[in-house]
Formats: sequence, structure tokens, C-alpha cells
Amino acid sequence: MYQAPLPQEYADLSPEEADARIVAAKQKLGKRLVILGHHYQRDEIIKHADYRGDSYKLAKDANLHPEADYIVFCGVHFMAESADILTPDNQVVILPNLAAGCSMADMANLFQVRKCWAELEKVLGGVRREASGVESGTRSESNLQSSISPPDTRRPTPDASRVIPVTYINSAANLKAFVGEHGGTVCTSTNAPTAVKWALEQGDKVLFFPDQHLGRNTGVRLGYDPETDMVVWDPFKPLGGNTEEDLVRAKFILWKGHCSVHGRFTVEQVRKARVDYPTVKVLVHPECPIEVVRESDYNGSTEYIIKTVQASEPGSVWAIGTEINLVSRLAKEHPDKTIFCLDPQICPCSTMYRIHPSFLCWALENLAEGRVVNQIKVPEKVTYWAKEALTRMLTVCA
Ligand code: SF4
Repeated sequence: MYQAPLPQEYADLSPEEADARIVAAKQKLGKRLVILGHHYQRDEIIKHADYRGDSYKLAKDANLHPEADYIVFCGVHFMAESADILTPDNQVVILPNLAAGCSMADMANLFQVRKCWAELEKVLGGVRREASGVESGTRSESNLQSSISPPDTRRPTPDASRVIPVTYINSAANLKAFVGEHGGTVCTSTNAPTAVKWALEQGDKVLFFPDQHLGRNTGVRLGYDPETDMVVWDPFKPLGGNTEEDLVRAKFILWKGHCSVHGRFTVEQVRKARVDYPTVKVLVHPECPIEVVRESDYNGSTEYIIKTVQASEPGSVWAIGTEINLVSRLAKEHPDKTIFCLDPQICPCSTMYRIHPSFLCWALENLAEGRVVNQIKVPEKVTYWAKEALTRMLTVCA
């Protein structure tokens, strides 16, 4: 999304000035404000966060303060959208820099996914089902209230054979809505095995987007073979670059998307870490390629990585395959352990990095003066079905 340049006054702030003014604006706003900070944010932002976490934890944290008027999300665009979907209408969600997107989320859009779905339907035979299924149950179990009337769920919706769509939470709200409308679910890197297992109980196949690596690593964890049970869907090729036979055979149709940070880690880096530090434990995120995950000792979500390091013995050595701000913070918080990033080049998430303290200062000072800037508002129709998909995840993976 386009972000207008900061007013010069903010662009010129020194780090100390920005810090002091953020503190002052935060004090002025008091309980009317909640700041959420993703683990990949720089320290200068994280220090101001009321809650820090990965995208799943923050999506839940966003819902903890119904009394707050403003949720300022220091993360990327899809996270702020999820917060808007999960919070009541009267709460305003703000992304301090609208240019903070996610390169992986941008690798799948609604047009491409609809086209994929239509092609799958053609190849696999369209079993037309109603878009109800578990929805009514999940809705009543949820404490999240929909703000609009439910659409007519008796309307038949196109359903490509018995393919269940699963979208990683790192995706645009309209893709979450697509999934909600087509009987699928959202997943996170923490709960992907549970969500995918559930999906395979509802249908024959899973269409997993946008991250092929998380989809593949999850399938392997559930006992599937990446060579025979999985195909990759390239949205720029007819049938995603597959034959009809491939698609009929596959259990997993994995969207050709990846994370620009986790996709950089290599097997060579893992082997070098083992040579340099014979006692090292290698811990990587499941957005890494499968070869890297196979070479590692452990893999799991950001929260898993943090907990694993926290619980480890003093003196232990950790080579970690995830975003550098998190790895550096872990190293600082655990001086009794040797902790370093697998990639010797700095590998920050460049879009997360766009939440600069000057942007946070600008957003908070405007709020303190009663002016809302950079609000993230998901359209109501999208909200309905996206909430359905998110709520289903929270129910299925509770
Ligand atoms: S680390 Fe990767 S998946 Fe996460 S926000 Fe950055 S680009 Fe997106």
C-alpha cells in the first residue's frame, strides 16, 4: 500500500527525540491505546509494545482489551487486518507505516486463487457443496461476534471436488474470506499440523497457500511424502504447471510462495555451523526449505523457537534460522548461551523494518490529538467470511 512521506518534523527526529515523544504520547493516551509488537520488530519499537508475539499470539492479544479505542499494530499489513477482523467495530486498528507488507502474502492474490480453484474444479470434478458444514457450530462457540447478517449459507458454492483450502495466516484478508467461504481454515506455523489434519478429514486434498515450505514441512510432519503426495501450483502456468494426473494423485497442492527471509537459509549454513560449533543445536522456522529443516535439530514457530531457547541449559549453543531482530534479542536476553543466526549476512524482514520509530511517533501523536491516521479497515463482506475462517482455526486448533 502507498504510504505518504512523513512530515519533515518526524523525518528529522533523532532516535532519542522519537523515543521520548512516543513515551509521552503513550502516556497521554493511557488505557485508550494498546500497542502490539511482532517479534521481528527492532528493539526501539518492541520496547514500547504492551504485547509482543508472533502473528497468531498477537491476533489473540488484539482481542484482550475491549476498552481500548486504538490498537496500534507494529507488524505488517495482514496482521493488522486480522486484528481488525477479530476486534469489535468500535476499535480502530492502525498500522504505523502502510508500506509494511509481507512479500510472501503478496505472492497469492484473490484473482489467482479463484482461477486456481476453477481449474481444480474442472480437473477434479465439481462436487457442489453448501458452504455451511462446521460454520454454524464454530460461530456459536466463538466469543467473536459478527457485525453483519450471515449470507444465505444454503446457496451452493463452487467446490473443486473435495479440496479443502487452507491459508497461512500470512495472507490478505480476502484470501482468508475465500477460505472461510469454501469450508477451509486459516493456520499458523504453530498449529499448521492440526489445521491440515483437520482439513484432510473434511476432504481428499488440501490446497495450501501462500507458503509452499510451511505446507510441505507440515505434510511431511504428518507422514506424507513430498515427492509422491505433493505438487506445487505455479499461478503463472496453466494447471499450475501440473498434469491432470499429477493433480488427481496429489494430497497436497502447494502454492508457489515463500518467505524472503526464511527462504535464504541453506543446508551449507547448517553444515558450517556444525563444523564451527560441534555442540551446536540448529533450530529453524518451518518456512525454511525442507532440506534445511531436515538438516536441523528442531523446527517450529517463532514462539516455539523462543521457548526452546529459554528452556535450554546455560552454556548451550544455538544456530537459529529465523529473522535477525529476534535472534539478536534472544542472544541479548540469554548471555549465558551462545546464540547466533545461521545466515552470516544480516537477514532482517525488510517490510517489518519499515515500522520506524518516527512512524510510530507520528501515528501516536496524531491519535493523542484525536486524529486517526493509517487505519486498517477490512470491508464488511470480507470480514464476515474471514472471521469464519479465523474462528474455525481457533476452534479446530484450540
Ligand atoms: S518474515 Fe517473511 S513471512 Fe514474515 S512478514 Fe517478513 S516476509 Fe512476510
